[in-house]
Amino acid sequence: MSKVLVLIEVSQGAIANTAVGLLAAASRLGEPIAVLAAKPGTDLAAQLGALGAAQVYLAETDQAGELLVTPEVDALASAVEALQPAAVLLANSPDGRDTAARLAVRTAGALLVDAVDVKLDGQRVVATHSVFGGAYAVDAAVEGGLAIVTIRQGAIEGKAEPASGTVTTIPLTVDGSASAAIDEVNAATEASSRPELRGATRVVSGGRGLGSGEAFELVEQLADALGAAVGASRAAVDAGYVPQTHQVGQTGITVSPQLYVALGISGAIQHRAGMQTAKTIVAINKDEDAPIFDIADFGIVGDIFTIVPKLIDEINARAH
Ligand code: FAD
Repeated sequence: MSKVLVLIEVSQGAIANTAVGLLAAASRLGEPIAVLAAKPGTDLAAQLGALGAAQVYLAETDQAGELLVTPEVDALASAVEALQPAAVLLANSPDGRDTAARLAVRTAGALLVDAVDVKLDGQRVVATHSVFGGAYAVDAAVEGGLAIVTIRQGAIEGKAEPASGTVTTIPLTVDGSASAAIDEVNAATEASSRPELRGATRVVSGGRGLGSGEAFELVEQLADALGAAVGASRAAVDAGYVPQTHQVGQTGITVSPQLYVALGISGAIQHRAGMQTAKTIVAINKDEDAPIFDIADFGIVGDIFTIVPKLIDEINARAH
């Protein structure tokens, strides 16, 4: 079975939640091997077997977390040389894209970014991309060289089966002379117990149809009943109902959850560009001709202020 490397990102001292989807995707292509650049003595590697890593390639360096992506590029380059994988998977995060591009230059590999799925076609790795605002799905295959693929957060459904996670530790010496140093990290945390929008498995979004910031609470209530993150259309953001950090779409955040619920959103192309790859789309809108219904799996024509409270009651009743 071909080996498939997965770069594990570390966020605030913990394994980033992107690891789950990446290891699931890797397990479909071959033997998933987690690659982690960390300071000596880390205990993070031990957790990766439970997430599906058959092996963990732990590159220990004092510079992990102190230099911008260089330790990760060096760790991956070392793993590529040692293990000769068929593919390398990374999160399509800012650091993931940066690392992937540098690794592609180092290894003369082929770079495929922002894939929403990966599969094998014979021995070839094929990545699926959602393009033109989600209107088309395009398959891209690597004809030669190492396939280096960044995967959209939240796009991969399911988890890999737990595996042995055998850890191989190597000392890594990183040449930081041409690297940007990280002086400090200030995480922009929101005082919210809700899931983060980016990478969320469920999202409830509200649009201009809510009519006011106060009424937007209805979106939050449904999100809480479903354990979902809160999103919004740009019209809702522009009207001041919620901060811009909630905006889904072409000029906002791209989400790819298992469930996307659109409340009072018309479904403009720019909004669809940010959510069209959701696995199941539910729309509630009083206009039966609203374009959101063209892409919805379940559509309800009606007033959100009548339907959503009933929906919340029903969900809460079933939860008990
Ligand atoms: P509207 O289009 O006004 O729709 C409101 C909907 O609510 C209507 O369909 C109406 O029938 C329904 N409604 C009203 N009252 C009720 C009720 N009581 N019950 C049920 N339904 C009700 N938009 C984005 O979302 N994200 C982006 O990233 C984005 N980027 C853009 C970039 C550019 C360059 C441009 C030009 C536009 C961008 N837009 C973006 C804006 C986009 O074109 C739309 O204007 C916007 O998405 C509309 O938001 P909306 O659906 O909330 O509002």
